[in-house]
Amino acid sequence: MLLRHTPTEVAERKALTVNPAKTCQPIGAMYAALGLSRCLPHSHGSQGCCAYHRSALSRHYKEPVMAATSSFTEGSSVFGGQSNLVASINTIFEVYNPDVIACHSTCLSETIGDDFKQIVDRADKKGSIPEGKKVIYCNTPSYAGSHVTGFSSMVKAFVDFFSESTADKLNQLNIIPGWVEPADMRELKSIAATLGVNIVMFPDTDGVMNAPQTGEHEFYPRGGVTQEALVSSGDSIATLALGPTASTAAAKALDRKCDVPFEVLELPIGLSATDEFVNALRKKGRVKVPQCITDQRGELLDVMTDMHQYFYGKRVALWGDPDQLVPLAEFLTDLDMKPVYIVTGTPGKKFAKRLEDVLDGRVPEAKIAYGAQADMFLMHQWIKNEPVDLLIGNTYGKYIARDENIPFVRHGFPILDRTTHQRFPTLGYSGAIHLLDQILNVFLDKKDRESSEIDFELVL
Ligand code: SF4
Repeated sequence: MLLRHTPTEVAERKALTVNPAKTCQPIGAMYAALGLSRCLPHSHGSQGCCAYHRSALSRHYKEPVMAATSSFTEGSSVFGGQSNLVASINTIFEVYNPDVIACHSTCLSETIGDDFKQIVDRADKKGSIPEGKKVIYCNTPSYAGSHVTGFSSMVKAFVDFFSESTADKLNQLNIIPGWVEPADMRELKSIAATLGVNIVMFPDTDGVMNAPQTGEHEFYPRGGVTQEALVSSGDSIATLALGPTASTAAAKALDRKCDVPFEVLELPIGLSATDEFVNALRKKGRVKVPQCITDQRGELLDVMTDMHQYFYGKRVALWGDPDQLVPLAEFLTDLDMKPVYIVTGTPGKKFAKRLEDVLDGRVPEAKIAYGAQADMFLMHQWIKNEPVDLLIGNTYGKYIARDENIPFVRHGFPILDRTTHQRFPTLGYSGAIHLLDQILNVFLDKKDRESSEIDFELVL
């Protein structure tokens, strides 16, 4: 029992966090920056922070993550990192030749109070930023927020630094996809293309964090939203912001800056949320839903009804990012499952209200926790007191799964101990079928493993 010291008695805690259900802001900023074509993320802080952020992303996406760092030493920690960043900008453009450097701060540079605008202006005056190249930035102190809010801040920086409006509106929609897998971003583009809606999606890590093997090392893989597309987002008809926590800030900034109206939706995970997304695309893009999308929906309904006996009444514990958890809880409830424990380390009171809205009183026993003290320790205590049939969340749940012998579906970020999750979507109707496949398989695996010889069945 790896977690044998977890007590069943839940004590109120004000300061202590044990096994947090989140990670730090710069990881999100780095992931978002990788979704911009020929962009090199830059971590303004110590080498250790940058190494951790890169390794967290590499371990999840199984791809090399290129990023630079200001490499703070004792001196910069006391006197500030201005000279390090100015020197970094010069070196990065000379040696690595990106089109954009996307800087984010760290706990250290935030505590010192380094001013990105002033430092980047200084680098520009010194001639360190070549013609046609850009340095963008956002603040990501990790003693606040989580990796999701860091992601949100960098996506907003895309708008602040690139989006422009002209007198001519373009026949296109913006999609801000939120923090999802590269395969999910591909799925969103595919749904929009099937409906015949032109889109600009940002960020877009498809083709970057799931890049094909070409036999040649590509420092900047071919994917990512282009600067031209980002500039044109200011002339789009409207923006669909998917995932309120990760995408609302950028959508609002674009509305303020370029007068592009926006609608915020939950991530299209499961039947109801995908219906909302497809319907929003249909209305805003003024198109009809083609038969092939209706057929995909029908396939999902077929699995939901055919396999209902395995889903009905199952108690589920979920943890991870708010934008994933809300539509996931809704989907599970649509399946007649019971998401009874729902935990995110990302702060924000709206999370509980969003969950109440989608659960709509269907799971009155549901316990919801968010913020710093909403951790894996608390989740485990709840499970010890009243067990569940299924766990859905990132890799950090594997200790609970092992100790309590509970089927476990890995979902969200980070997944450190499995592979190919970045290549198969869980968004859209097809993604929902993939998710159901994973859930059914862990239930049936447990049944096979634990059934007696008499009850051991060859057929489902
Ligand atoms: S929490 Fe702060 S100090 Fe730690 S890795 Fe993240 S940015 Fe660096």
